[in-house]
Amino acid sequence: MVGGKRIELKGIPVSSGIIIGKAHLVDRSKVKVPLRRIDDNSVPYETERFKKAVEKAKEQLSELKNRLPDRLKEHGFILDSYMMILNDSMLYDATLKKIKEEKINAEWALKGSFEEIKSLFSQIEDSYISERINDVENVVQRILRNLTGNRHDDLSNIKQKSIIVARDLSPADTAGLNAKKIMGFVTDGGGITSHTAILARALELPAVMGLCSVTKQVEDGSVVVVDGDTGKVIINPDDEDIIYYREKKSQREQLRSSVLKEAHLPAVTLDGYRISIMANTEFLNEVYMVKEQGAEGIGLYRTEFLYLSHNGFPTEEELFEDYKRAAQAMSPDPVIIRTLDIGGDKFKDKLTISNETNPALGLRAIRFCLKNPAIFRDQLKAILRASAYGNVQIMLPMISGLNELLDAKAIIKKIKDELKEKGIPYNPDIKVGIIIEVPSAVMIADILARHVDFFSIGTNDLIQYTLAIDRINKEVAYLYDPFHPSIIKMIKHVIDVGKRNSLSVALCGEMASDPLCVPMLIGLGLRQLSMNSRIIPFIKKLIRSFSIQDLKKDIEKIMELTTPEEIRSYLLRRMEEMFPEMGILGEYFYTRAG
Ligand code: PEP
Ligand code: MG
Repeated sequence: MVGGKRIELKGIPVSSGIIIGKAHLVDRSKVKVPLRRIDDNSVPYETERFKKAVEKAKEQLSELKNRLPDRLKEHGFILDSYMMILNDSMLYDATLKKIKEEKINAEWALKGSFEEIKSLFSQIEDSYISERINDVENVVQRILRNLTGNRHDDLSNIKQKSIIVARDLSPADTAGLNAKKIMGFVTDGGGITSHTAILARALELPAVMGLCSVTKQVEDGSVVVVDGDTGKVIINPDDEDIIYYREKKSQREQLRSSVLKEAHLPAVTLDGYRISIMANTEFLNEVYMVKEQGAEGIGLYRTEFLYLSHNGFPTEEELFEDYKRAAQAMSPDPVIIRTLDIGGDKFKDKLTISNETNPALGLRAIRFCLKNPAIFRDQLKAILRASAYGNVQIMLPMISGLNELLDAKAIIKKIKDELKEKGIPYNPDIKVGIIIEVPSAVMIADILARHVDFFSIGTNDLIQYTLAIDRINKEVAYLYDPFHPSIIKMIKHVIDVGKRNSLSVALCGEMASDPLCVPMLIGLGLRQLSMNSRIIPFIKKLIRSFSIQDLKKDIEKIMELTTPEEIRSYLLRRMEEMFPEMGILGEYFYTRAG
């Protein structure tokens, strides 16, 4: 035993990698807020105290922003969003009003404003938006600390290399940390879409979040193992754990460094078929990194983040700059820009938060864009203008019928005419494709094929809509299965339609990043996959280890199997034969799609 009782916890893996180190427990206990009644004469004094505390918070945040290391400069907008919260009338004006009208101290008034905002947020089911309440709370805690004079535990002063254990970390904490001394994070709160998780990935620091009570179970200085691939955290690991994780870490690092050396080589099967491997990206800064991982283009540029993180809607110019830079960075390889897929499980503000009972079946993606033509036009114009700077293509999400496709194409045509008239450069032959992610689109793929340049199969939604399983509902997650025979038959149908129409067909859902799915997808006839960039070197290596001839025989067998379980175990058995390293890959990268 290394010391203390061994405790094993499971959280949400948000940033991959394994670390074994000492815990640095961050004191982020909430500031205790007293209630004080004040008289009329004290109102100006309390008002002034509050204003000063907010001003101080602004200074602290702008100092943090100036100190951001280069690798995090792209994420400075997170601190800007904190600044915006400080100015928000629901927080700022409401607190001043409470001080004046309720005659209470600034701390209590601020707490009251926060509770009101929190209750509004709690009515929102979307996890992206509801997690933003953590940002508001972080800002509130900062103001409270300034009001009460409580110390802010500064992560930039950590002396010894350690794993940060915290109730929750704000992006301001993460941004201000001493990156050389931090090995990774574990937190009680947070989730995959939290800004801190985004920053952990940008810093390539392993992180597990959503552990609920890790801060109560770990002591400062205890040894902790963090597995950012599986979400496992072990406090006070025993000797066996240490040996096991050291071995895993070294195997993983060996495999990673050996596959990284070959990342730039093409993914060619043993019998000479070349598979094109592209990356899925969500932010511009990722675009700069995918080439190192061996990506041969961006097969899915999800464009929502710019909208979700923007105060308002991004302008055509802002979008154009972003897309142009992506196009230039990847040129001559393609950048397939998916038009705005807002709604469903991603909302922005009042405009997109509707009171739909079934948002996944509601005003989402292309439906939202066709209903809001000004927003759609700005984005399309930006994409078309960016097409003059590289190999930019347009991909339309959630097409369920021909009319949506024709309507969108008509808008594209009109914008092209306008650009031409104004002499603004764009690529007149820009490719326009669709994501096949609604079952109706699968069934009419032959009709849609006549009007597009390519298909990309979006299995994340195709599984959700085919199996009638809400992809963000934990209760039915066990039914969400990429190996369901219906999904395999649908993928096959789309590939066959593509072949008959000489149309390129890619797959950009999570299935493409899953080592167990990839051989099946290639056996079914796919020659283009788009995935999370960090898995690319592994998937390329995997592809080099099998022949299409063999996979075709496997597909004949798979098509006869009747349940997802049978198909999964068949593939597992075959993978162990074809790819002995599967043990490592399987442990670290096998996830169910979604
Ligand atoms: C999909 O649905 O498979 C897809 C790639 O898009 P998203 O996950 O963004 O919905
Ligand atoms: Mg989708």
